[in-house]
Amino acid sequence: MEKTPEKYWHYPTASLKPHREEQLLRGHLWIFSRALQQPPHWIEPGGIADIKSATGEFLARGYYNPQTDIAIRILTRDPEEAIDQTFLRKRIQQATQLRQALDDHTQTTTAYRLINAEGDGLPGLVVDRYADILVAQIHTAGMERMREQIIEVLMQETGAQGLLFRNEAPSRRREGLALEDPQIGAGTVPAQIAIRENGVHFLVDPWQGQKTGFFLDQRNKRAALRKYAPGKRILNCFSYTGGFSINAALVGATHVTSVDISAPAIEAARQHFALNDLDPAHHEFLIANVFDYLESAVSGGELFDVVVLDPPAFAKSESARSQALKAYRRLNLLGMQVLRPGGVLLTCSCSGVVRMDDILGVISIEAQRLQRSVQLLETYTYSLDHPISLAMPETSYLKAIFCRIC
Ligand code: SAH
Repeated sequence: MEKTPEKYWHYPTASLKPHREEQLLRGHLWIFSRALQQPPHWIEPGGIADIKSATGEFLARGYYNPQTDIAIRILTRDPEEAIDQTFLRKRIQQATQLRQALDDHTQTTTAYRLINAEGDGLPGLVVDRYADILVAQIHTAGMERMREQIIEVLMQETGAQGLLFRNEAPSRRREGLALEDPQIGAGTVPAQIAIRENGVHFLVDPWQGQKTGFFLDQRNKRAALRKYAPGKRILNCFSYTGGFSINAALVGATHVTSVDISAPAIEAARQHFALNDLDPAHHEFLIANVFDYLESAVSGGELFDVVVLDPPAFAKSESARSQALKAYRRLNLLGMQVLRPGGVLLTCSCSGVVRMDDILGVISIEAQRLQRSVQLLETYTYSLDHPISLAMPETSYLKAIFCRIC
């Protein structure tokens, strides 16, 4: 390759060690500190740097943080593209275009992820859209430095009425960033936002709800559950505000039990039944630890036709993997024990370090222990508002499996 002409070097430069560009060339967006020969000089955490190969070619441009293991996150591979408002606008427009398929005229779905960080070429930024309100999370120092520009472009491009920041993720500390209380970035943000998801009504609390208020990544699984629910008894474990429960009840599940450890989530689930013209009195809402609940249900001989297991991430790091797999095994064993023969299990995992194969293995082993056989029916990850870069499988986290336990 030829040496890159001088005119392209706009920012302080970082150089890679020899032969460390392969991942980058394949489309990966992270450069680890151990791959750097020379970090960029005179640059604050989150500042923009140009990356060159050991032989001096321009490779990419991204933001740098000397404090983190992931030293640089790539923003562009075009030497002529400056990192400014035009850059942000382009990326946000591309993301908006992708979601147009969800923005249908009948308005059956008014909530979706608008920006999925690396998957949308904006590492460290997550934005969820709830009708006219945006709820954003900034995870890195690089995105933090662009906060004001992000607010301006997002408001212009989406026509939203308000933008709320939920910057409480503990991972911010690794970046040298403080954890913040929820705060308004622009406009006004109500205490509750009415949304529709596949025609179902929900109220989202953007200020105090978990994460940004709603688990949008489960939309397609909530819809998929409907075909297994008519006339059935359903157990929804880790129900949060009742997303799976309402979908089941709306298509004629005879009885739905929702279990979650969070009292406000269970209260919201109850309200969501009423909001969708379903009588909450015909269903059950339990504030409990799912593991305790399932153990007592097993000893009480309770049986359901469909069991949903959608726990929080059990493993946040590679070192926690084997502990997490143990927890998945125990949970799935208990879940199968309250499933009548021929019943359907929907089991999910949002631990990034646990793979689809691991979860399939868990189901298989635990079914064998109970001398039951498993028919694999459907597997899911995300839908189009949660794009994942194919070069970065490690940014994918969600697995959902429907199976019949005979
Ligand atoms: N299925 C939900 C999302 C689940 S998120 C939906 O479709 O919206 C995970 C949920 O697990 C959270 O609501 C959290 O409060 C709950 N949770 C975490 N640990 C729990 C435990 N040990 N027992 C019961 N619920 C728990």
